Amino acid sequence: MTPRILDGTAVSKAIRAEVAGEVAELTARGIVPGLAVILVGDHPASAVYVASKGAAAREAGIAERTLRFPAGLSGAELLAAVDSLNRDDAVDAILVQLPLPKHIDSARIFEAIDPRKDVDGFHPVNAGRLLQGKPAPVPCTPAGILELLRREGIPLQGTRAVVVGRSDIVGKPTALLLLQNHATVTIAHSRTRDLPGLCREADLLVAAIGRPGFVTGAFVKEGAVLVDVGINRLTSRADVERFFHGDAARLSAFEKKGSTLVGDCDPATAFPRSSRYTPVPGGVGPLTIAILLRNTLDLCRKRRSP
Ligand code: NDP
Repeated sequence: MTPRILDGTAVSKAIRAEVAGEVAELTARGIVPGLAVILVGDHPASAVYVASKGAAAREAGIAERTLRFPAGLSGAELLAAVDSLNRDDAVDAILVQLPLPKHIDSARIFEAIDPRKDVDGFHPVNAGRLLQGKPAPVPCTPAGILELLRREGIPLQGTRAVVVGRSDIVGKPTALLLLQNHATVTIAHSRTRDLPGLCREADLLVAAIGRPGFVTGAFVKEGAVLVDVGINRLTSRADVERFFHGDAARLSAFEKKGSTLVGDCDPATAFPRSSRYTPVPGGVGPLTIAILLRNTLDLCRKRRSP
């Protein structure tokens, strides 16, 4: 069976168009949803992510504002910036781009964001609400994964799902959402015994690890659905050849750009065993941005009750 690609780019476009339509309606009534993005330091990947989030927000008609701070910003100064956005009525949603510089306590910053403006759903109040199945802004990547599975008509009820990765940002919330959708969920991590054997039990396997091509064919049950969350940049030709051997388009793209992305799944051995999979790039990544816009709109509606 030839596996089918779960096209995150197409689904993301559809969500973005829906959000843009709703934003236009609100704007006509004098309410413009506002998103504030905070970027600290000059982490190159973060700068790229923030630029694409900003452009997507503006394209949807959201009033986007990016606050850029030097890497030496103190935790107290960042808290003050968050506080001023909390009090700014034009701001419905606040996003603090990760990673923050090591000297800043990220948890403290996320706890300082008004939970009603917590577009990433990282505040403990919202994480707790998600745990209890109550309405809350849901972290963008996990929400995007669930939306993709829903729109692609992938049944979850009663399926055996394994999520590899237990971060607060991806692994845990994804597992909770799958559980809410009646999957039987196991969360695996770096101390899990016989990880390949466990993963082979999965009808749905989510890889959120951060290790290029870690999930090989030996982890995948024939016909399973694979969700590859990993974004790993390859900069050496040898690595690109290892993962994309024989993929002329990928090799030539690498030659042009000097780098290419691979997920946490090995494209040569894992994807062919699946029935459906999310590619990297073009799978989960675009959905994260689409859900950011959706969450901004939802927070605006809730806080301003329009
Ligand atoms: P973290 O580093 O926070 O978490 C990684 C998880 O993987 C940890 O739970 C860790 O286990 C587990 N892990 C690491 N090594 C192994 C191993 N050898 N065997 C089993 N489990 C292992 O990463 P994130 O959750 O933030 O991100 C994961 C990936 O997703 C990254 O590639 C990131 O770039 C990508 N990402 C993509 C997004 C998108 O929009 N597509 C958005 C966010 C992230 P332990 O807890 O035991 O250490």
